[in-house]
Amino acid sequence: MLDYNNPTVAREQLLQCNNSSLATIIEYYFTQANINEIEKLYTLSRYFRNKYYSNKVYFRGLIEISSYCKQDCYYCGIRKSNKKANRYRLDKGTILECCEKGNKLGFKTFVLQGGEDPFFTKDIMIDICSSIKKQFPKSALTLSIGELDYDFYKKLKENGVDRFLLRHETATKSHYEKLHPPFMSFDNRQNCLKILKELKYQTGAGFMVDSPFQNIETIANDLIFLKNLNPEMIGMGPFLPHKDTPFKNFKILNINHTLILLALVRILVPKALIPATTALATVDKKYSDLALINSANVIMPNLSPPNHRKDYSLYNNKKSWGNESAQQISNITKNLNNLNLCADFSRGDYFDLQ
Ligand code: SAM
Repeated sequence: MLDYNNPTVAREQLLQCNNSSLATIIEYYFTQANINEIEKLYTLSRYFRNKYYSNKVYFRGLIEISSYCKQDCYYCGIRKSNKKANRYRLDKGTILECCEKGNKLGFKTFVLQGGEDPFFTKDIMIDICSSIKKQFPKSALTLSIGELDYDFYKKLKENGVDRFLLRHETATKSHYEKLHPPFMSFDNRQNCLKILKELKYQTGAGFMVDSPFQNIETIANDLIFLKNLNPEMIGMGPFLPHKDTPFKNFKILNINHTLILLALVRILVPKALIPATTALATVDKKYSDLALINSANVIMPNLSPPNHRKDYSLYNNKKSWGNESAQQISNITKNLNNLNLCADFSRGDYFDLQ
């Protein structure tokens, strides 16, 4: 097992693993390790988080810009085939108002996330993004709007977009094909990540934990994929079912799996910015607290207009990481202090870029 007394050696042990030895380690933590040993794993993870980012937790203002989506992921509540989904999209003025609210609260990063909405063409996105950068030049701008072509990514980068989140979802093609319909392409998603890296975006990858048809081998592939891609951001949260999707009858499995994998990923990719996801907070606040204590260092409070929040429904009972009120931000800050963590409102760039 890992050398708990020497974090550098423990990391080296993980780095040397091939898929099969990593699968054995993951299985051990999932099924056999006792609480003491898992606690030691978390201590290793904390060591690396603190080494690069100390106890800082970066705030990102999340703006959910559209619930329209042309994709049809079997797990997602805003998939195009969900006829019961309420669809909305924010116009440019509303998006800028959300940024303005966030700016007043001290946010220095805005994350625009949405379904793959064909309304947001290259020209429209360039206009929105360059307006945000013009109005808030000191703030970082992150997009999470799915798979685009090379020129679209390139133009967005040239117009000031700093970061792009695009979870790889799974690094195993046969697994990808069980999570998505035939018209969606594993190779294209992987290629998008390659382009984002090539264009020097701070790039985010990641996957859902305990998604349908996932197993220890696919998870080992995911961790090796993340190690090799070396993304600046990694988003990992539990799969949560949505009642109007083909995966409605799959259950939430074991949230400790997410916490264990966050720790292993922190050790493998130690400088990554890792959020305590909304999905974790949705299951129970105690899990997002544990993620922050041990491995994560980002939270993304919601700046979206309150009247649309429930319509960005990716899974049942989706919660927000707080909202745009000063009171909420101050509550989150107090909670972090109670966990011996420190709220940080700077841009929170990747370690090597700070
Ligand atoms: N459309 C963009 C994309 O594809 O990257 C961004 C929005 S997408 C809804 C954001 C992420 O939500 C996905 O990458 C997926 O991992 C996660 N997600 C979707 N449905 C989920 C579910 N049922 N449980 C947990 N996470 C889910």
